[in-house]
Amino acid sequence: MADVAVIGLGGLGSATAYWLARRDVSVVGFEQFELGHVRGASHDHSRIIRRSYHTPEYVRLTAGAYDAWQAVEADCGEHIITVTGGVDLFPPGAAIDHGTYTASLAAERVPFEWIDGAEIRSRWPAFAKGSLVTPDVMGLYSAETGIVPAGPGTATLQRLAVAHGAELREHSPVREIRAAGGEVDVITDDGATRVGHVVITADAWTNRLLAPMGRSIPMVVTREQVSYFPHADLQRFAVGRFPVWIWMDDPSFYGFPLYGDMSGLKGSEDCGGSEVDPDTRTFDPDPGMEDRLRSFMEQLVGPGFGAPRTATCLYTLTSDRDFLLDTLPGIPNVSVALGAAHGFKFAAWFGRTLAGLACGEPAGPDLAPFSFDRPGLHAPIDRSAWMV
Ligand SMILES: Cc1cc2nc3c(=O)[nH]c(=O)nc-3n(C[C@H](O)[C@H](O)[C@H](O)COP(=O)(O)OP(=O)(O)OC[C@H]3O[C@@H](n4cnc5c(N)ncnc54)[C@H](O)[C@@H]3O)c2cc1C
Repeated sequence: MADVAVIGLGGLGSATAYWLARRDVSVVGFEQFELGHVRGASHDHSRIIRRSYHTPEYVRLTAGAYDAWQAVEADCGEHIITVTGGVDLFPPGAAIDHGTYTASLAAERVPFEWIDGAEIRSRWPAFAKGSLVTPDVMGLYSAETGIVPAGPGTATLQRLAVAHGAELREHSPVREIRAAGGEVDVITDDGATRVGHVVITADAWTNRLLAPMGRSIPMVVTREQVSYFPHADLQRFAVGRFPVWIWMDDPSFYGFPLYGDMSGLKGSEDCGGSEVDPDTRTFDPDPGMEDRLRSFMEQLVGPGFGAPRTATCLYTLTSDRDFLLDTLPGIPNVSVALGAAHGFKFAAWFGRTLAGLACGEPAGPDLAPFSFDRPGLHAPIDRSAWMV
């Protein structure tokens, strides 16, 4: 009998299986689709990892995010984090308050620079080709910002989990979780698997598993997309010449230097997608979102983009857009985690923390903001709370 079952093998679940196996805990992971599928939230080439966040608690947590990925790098001897430098761009009157970011970084003594538009254009000439970064646009520059590989990073965690002894079952949808005395039965089409603890890392599908246990979380699942735009001079956007960038306004857009798919420059809109059902949603690009993004990127770095390649992906948004990481109230041997559409940078940290919870370690004060019972999690959905 396995000690722990992990349900859902995206970034968070694969990291949990990895850290449990690394601790010599016998772990079985269940994935409803094939490993590496593109129906959830952890596929495609890249995700931003950064220290700049809007609260000191998150800034402090980002140290753990880097540390946990570096521990995985040390374990497998492979490079995972690519440090590129990143600039959060604040136009005058920005919808997102720069003060919460600069104050949080300062409170945690994390170095950053506060630079104006002229400095941004001189450091990264690509911005000088556009019209958006005017002298009164301010930039919060963090040298530690970088990229973690979503799909390849998840595959690495799965490979290492198996190498450390985990059993990962793909095409194994979990139909239900049932308490069985002090243990838990995980029900699939192949029958019941009894374990001591269950970790739910099912993101957009989480409420499907919680409902039979009389629990649910207010959440909104949206279909987001990222686009890769060909350009005559892509080298202008190479790592070292172009940073990770985030436009801190409403709408909010973000992008990367050339990485992963070297045929196009990647950009996306945060929370630009429509609400969907994860099982019936489509995979076709939304042309309106593509046009909005192209128009923005041409203002940002000038014209010259060809027709994009677009991939879709799911956001799972909690009311306050804070994580969920806790055991279920009244059911201590079931824990659940949600990355609230900004969790991949923390995937290795989530995994290490969830492995600790599954082994009976106390949650600790750092996790209090992510508890199941916090009022913000059960508040009515308010999209303005997502503008962070
Ligand atoms: C476009 C986009 C851009 C993003 N950018 C960033 C970024 O720059 N930085 C960042 O930190 N984060 C970012 N995120 C968020 C981040 O990618 C997610 O928070 C993270 O990937 C969530 O991982 P997960 O493992 O919880 O979810 P998923 O990868 O969706 O995994 C959940 C898994 O559970 C499986 N599952 C569900 N129900 C069952 C069941 N009953 N039985 C078995 N298996 C089941 C699903 O099939 C799925 O594989 C972005 C997300 C998107 C969509």
